Amino acid sequence: MKRVLNFNAGPTALPLDVLTQAQQEFLDYQGQGMNVMEMSHREACFEGILDRAKKAIIALYAVPDDYDILFLQGGASLQFAMIPMNFGVNGGYLNTGVWSTNALQEAKIIGNAYELWSSQKDQFSHVPQDLINVPESIADQLNYLHYTSNNTIYGTQYHHLPKLMVDQQLLLNVPLFCDVSSDFLSRPLDIKQYDFIYAGAQKNAGPSGVTIVIAKKELLAQSPKTPIPKILQYKIHAEKDSMYNTPNTYGIYILMLMCEWMIAQGGVNHFQALNLQKANLIYDVLDRYADVFEGHARKHSRSLMNITFRLKNEKRLDELLALAQEKEIIGIKGHRSVGGMRISLYNAVPLSSTEVLAQVLQAFAQKA
Ligand code: PMP
Repeated sequence: MKRVLNFNAGPTALPLDVLTQAQQEFLDYQGQGMNVMEMSHREACFEGILDRAKKAIIALYAVPDDYDILFLQGGASLQFAMIPMNFGVNGGYLNTGVWSTNALQEAKIIGNAYELWSSQKDQFSHVPQDLINVPESIADQLNYLHYTSNNTIYGTQYHHLPKLMVDQQLLLNVPLFCDVSSDFLSRPLDIKQYDFIYAGAQKNAGPSGVTIVIAKKELLAQSPKTPIPKILQYKIHAEKDSMYNTPNTYGIYILMLMCEWMIAQGGVNHFQALNLQKANLIYDVLDRYADVFEGHARKHSRSLMNITFRLKNEKRLDELLALAQEKEIIGIKGHRSVGGMRISLYNAVPLSSTEVLAQVLQAFAQKA
């Protein structure tokens, strides 16, 4: 059997333990005589899977009782549209990359949506470090503040909560919404600080096709401000416990296995330490050979999940890719909008694979 060293940006590597368990249960899930894909989503057996998936997320993030967890479809991208449709047309957005831009643009189709901060002019190389100034004219209209905790394409990440300010005072009453798609469950998160977070599962938590929403129950219970179809209403999905229509049953099953695997490994604290160790291995080589590599993100905004950099001599790109290929390394070419290289180090990427990649980068740099 061949297993590559997978540094894809998502969908990406799943732990071998999870894949093996899914394989063992493939033809007969726990004596049911069928695969999870063949089961009715209305039967107790699948309800048990949904419940286990929820419980695992609650355990990993210590989700408080007044929050609910939904498993939706349509990717994080559908959340970009559903959020303004359900929670008001005056969202405030921090624009730190392609995905926040997309979220902002969807909201602008629905309503006003304010861009409160942007690092576009700096090629999205950083996230805001300081308090963000909100014009007095819109401060009391903001329905929520939306930001992207980890910018998958540019390799930047918040290491703090963003804070708004109006007229020299902290603006504290704006509900906090966050797209945590690419650092979900990769480090501890104090859910109480947030009103609403969401993530596509396909980076740290399983396969594509499942979007996790964790939000305050009272927020989910709200009726949308304007009439919208039921399928787009959080209220309906919450009332029906993610079963308003047929959920992605197999995706939720793999997510459940993945979350239970994370608990067995030591939970989000374990992954934070591991992910830091992996990221340091790569950043150390980039910093040591600064004549060969050029990082995209500013140091204070560096992501532990996606590391982006360019070669100072772009003509050597094929040489690096060939060295990587010899070691069965895949997925390290940068996104087309940034170029260069991108290394994604999600939870399922082992330290051992990262060590091999760090050695390849170092060998490449020493050849210069
Ligand atoms: N937000 C972030 C941070 C992402 O990385 C992505 C996808 N890479 C998306 C949103 C869009 O997710 P989806 O393709 O699931 O709609």
